Amino acid sequence: MTPCPNCQSNEVYAYKETVPFTGKHVSYLPGLGTMFSAAYVKPVLCAECGLTRYFAQDDARERVKTNGGWEKL
Ligand SMILES: [Zn+2]
Repeated sequence: MTPCPNCQSNEVYAYKETVPFTGKHVSYLPGLGTMFSAAYVKPVLCAECGLTRYFAQDDARERVKTNGGWEKL
């Protein structure tokens, strides 16, 4: 996850846990969570430029392959 793909800094931090990737009324990874919760992601932030990335956990990455709402580019 280092260096940062935007500024090449090595001041990149990852949150130690995964967190639900959702807002109050929106899911940012629609269809990839479970019936009971949103998909989880690990946030990674560059302390130099602020670029923030979210990495979906394994089960969401597997579901994207078969969920009809997502298309492979
Ligand atoms: Zn950066």
